[in-house]
Amino acid sequence: MMSKACVVLVAAGFFVATCVAPVQAEPWIVEKGQPRAEIVIAEHPVRTVRLAAADLQEYVQKMSGARLPIVTQPSGNAIKLYVGRSPDTDRLGITAEGLKYGAYRLVSGDDWMVFLGDDTEFVPREPWPRSNASIASGELQKAWEAVAGGPWGVPNTTMWKDRHKIPATVGLPDAAPQPGKNEYFEVWAYDERGSYNAVCGFLHKLGVRWLLPGELGEIVPRMDSIPLPKIDETVQPDFEIRQFSFHGPWEWAQWAMRLGARSPYGLQTAHGMSRLGRPEIFAAHPDWFAMYGGKRRFDPESKNNHFCYSNEELFRETVRYVRAQFDVYDFEGVSVMPPDAYISICQCPLCEGKADPDRGPRGVLSNHVWDFVNRVAKEVAKTHPGKLIYCCAYGTYSLPPTNIDKLEPNVQVLIVGGRRPKSGVAQQAEIRAFRESWLPKTDRPIMIFENYPLTNRGWYLPCFMARTIGQSINETKGISRGEEIWISPHQEFDGAAAFDAFQVYFTARMYWGGKEQDIEALLDEYCRLLYGPAGDAMKAFFDYCEL
Ligand SMILES: [Zn+2]
Repeated sequence: MMSKACVVLVAAGFFVATCVAPVQAEPWIVEKGQPRAEIVIAEHPVRTVRLAAADLQEYVQKMSGARLPIVTQPSGNAIKLYVGRSPDTDRLGITAEGLKYGAYRLVSGDDWMVFLGDDTEFVPREPWPRSNASIASGELQKAWEAVAGGPWGVPNTTMWKDRHKIPATVGLPDAAPQPGKNEYFEVWAYDERGSYNAVCGFLHKLGVRWLLPGELGEIVPRMDSIPLPKIDETVQPDFEIRQFSFHGPWEWAQWAMRLGARSPYGLQTAHGMSRLGRPEIFAAHPDWFAMYGGKRRFDPESKNNHFCYSNEELFRETVRYVRAQFDVYDFEGVSVMPPDAYISICQCPLCEGKADPDRGPRGVLSNHVWDFVNRVAKEVAKTHPGKLIYCCAYGTYSLPPTNIDKLEPNVQVLIVGGRRPKSGVAQQAEIRAFRESWLPKTDRPIMIFENYPLTNRGWYLPCFMARTIGQSINETKGISRGEEIWISPHQEFDGAAAFDAFQVYFTARMYWGGKEQDIEALLDEYCRLLYGPAGDAMKAFFDYCEL
């Protein structure tokens, strides 16, 4: 027999994984539009817990009309919704231990429920850009050179875009003094958000969806009563890195957060070597740069100045630069990927004979480039064990090298186009074979880098490839640490949301749910909820796109 709680939820038209067993007196979060619970946070909560409490309050109110108070001390009879770590969760013995990368726990008792995960706050290391001004003025570069000890390019110039100003009223306990209109606190995209994911996970169970950024894309079921579920769940993401690189207004960043995205601090995916392509360095060491037509080439306006990877001094300088980045910024890894695709090898005598034209355009420089990467990694490991050297499989060095049986254990391989969902189902066998050809070369899980084809890219068309996205993500679970996806080269995400948001939404949902995440069910739901009466026609459109 179904419990009362299940009846309520099924009547609302939404599947709920956890049904409440019949009990004597039903505990309610909201009962017939009346608040029966309060949101309890720590006296001094971390900043993402304030976001979590605010979302729980906002969506319960949108669903039921009932506004749950936010408190720091339980007041007595109300059901207690503990969000984030507090003395109360400690007393209950419920901790965030073992919850990594945004994993979370939802646990309830007779009159309480805990929403908990790792909420470690990101602490930036100096020097870092507060805004674009310190980059444009050269101040940041100067400050970095002073501590790094070399003329290399400062590596953290995009950080300021990942810091968001939140009005000080958000997630504020009811009894706290009202802040002024212009008071803010800040969150970083790099803050861990386990408890926030817990709240979003619970709201998702209740049927809330964020299909597009902003209110237009919100699906909020109407529920007069919301029962306190009987629940004890630990939810793990399928990838540790779930990064969508678009920079826009808070509304967009918040959307990605609600979808469970995760951007680790300082992730350097692409073209790390380009920051050595500076005028001062060229002036002092022209022979570190690639020779074309008998001349060392350098264009101060270009980010794609190529190097001579046979030059031993360049190798030693690269090692110094990498070490300095670890020392100053404590990144997990540093990219030594060549600038751009390195279409033509340096034509100096040292590089002669080092290309492998018989391997074709995607492998002609694989042995040459990956040998350099591998040597840097081996050298850096002597002083910085545990730190990673990143390089992308891209352009002329896409294919795995044949001169290295196994890469150094600290080499992190990122595969550009490792899923490439714009190509459709028919091309996936080839992409799978490419992706998996790398697996024997490394004992580390791979990472994937994608440029999603969006209308803003001009030459691409919007793609509605639900199954291609879904299947390729399910296939990489267990062999990949995760993904960075670039949404548009100009970081503009407005103006085409109805087209573009689908890929972000669907991809983000596929990052959770395990290896068997149900692609068809996810697509059915998306069409039904977003398009309403046109849902069947839109599903047919999706089917057509993947023919
Ligand atoms: Zn050369």
